[in-house]
Amino acid sequence: MRIVPEALIAGLVSPEDAFAAVEAVFAAMSRGEAYNFDVVREALGEGRQYGFKSGLDRAGGQLGVKAGGYFPGNAARGIINHQSTVFLFDPETGRPTAMVGGGLLTALRTAAASAISIDRLARRDARVLGMVGAGHQAGFQLRAAARVRQFDRVIGWNLHPEMLDRLGAIAAELGLPFEAVPLERMAEADVIVTITSSPAASLLEAHVSPGTHLACMGTDTKGKQEVEPALLGRASVFTDEIAQSVSIGEAQHAVAAGLLDATAITPLGDVITGAHPGRRSGDEITLFDGTGVGLQDLAVAAMAVRRAEERGQGMVVEV
Ligand code: NAD
Repeated sequence: MRIVPEALIAGLVSPEDAFAAVEAVFAAMSRGEAYNFDVVREALGEGRQYGFKSGLDRAGGQLGVKAGGYFPGNAARGIINHQSTVFLFDPETGRPTAMVGGGLLTALRTAAASAISIDRLARRDARVLGMVGAGHQAGFQLRAAARVRQFDRVIGWNLHPEMLDRLGAIAAELGLPFEAVPLERMAEADVIVTITSSPAASLLEAHVSPGTHLACMGTDTKGKQEVEPALLGRASVFTDEIAQSVSIGEAQHAVAAGLLDATAITPLGDVITGAHPGRRSGDEITLFDGTGVGLQDLAVAAMAVRRAEERGQGMVVEV
């Protein structure tokens, strides 16, 4: 098997590569050629979370798992709190083919998913980008969003306002004016990306204008919540995978409250393949519930491995 360490990933997979890989696997899911296995997620105590996301992509010839989690004590040890590693296997034989550092790849595949949703569902004339959240992942989401629409400016809100300076600096790098705003002013945004670890809704229905596209990316576990459930009742809801959306995604709350039925949620892959038309009018609110699926991880990891093979990088070991 080939070991591709974290330090090599930035040179092997670009944000554009991640966009293409994730779009292809969402389409494969829509065609029934790829599917995710049930997510395993365990609380280990003292805030530590560990889990497995896995799947099989028959079209892309990938079988594998991302193992990883969140270990809040790591920072004090001088290592990052988020830990993840992707393992790939030959789907015919089950032999391990690769072990790949999953940190940057997770950030890239998550940013790619929200950018694909913006590309496919936001109005073409979207000019104002709203960011809710300003942690590690927010900068990746902002950069990826700016690649798919010609935004004039960015507005941002975060529970911890001191973190917004870093996001403002990224907007400035992209040549976009940035303003920290109260949540009420998110009504000015044409596209809103939410990327927080919030346990309760921050963004309310009243904060969102008709015609907005929302990419809700932070809720990937039971009990997390970023937006008011009524918003999902009012919006056309899309997701990476319906089973995850209703169990660990943002839709879990609207479904539990009886405001949304699972049958009303559309896989984003259906829009990519043309099976669903996507946005139907300029006034429609579209909402992408991005829960993060194992197949996204396998798609970007496989790309890293292909590039590493071509360039003779990484380490080959017999297991
Ligand atoms: P981070 O710890 O770096 O940042 C957390 C963010 O949440 C910060 O903006 C913080 O101010 C905000 N926050 C914390 N508590 C809050 C609260 N009570 N109310 C509102 N905001 C609060 O984390 P990150 O790496 O930026 O990830 C953000 C979220 O995205 C996490 O929940 C993470 O699990 C999730 N995530 C999802 C995917 C996916 O595929 N959907 C992938 C990666 C990360």
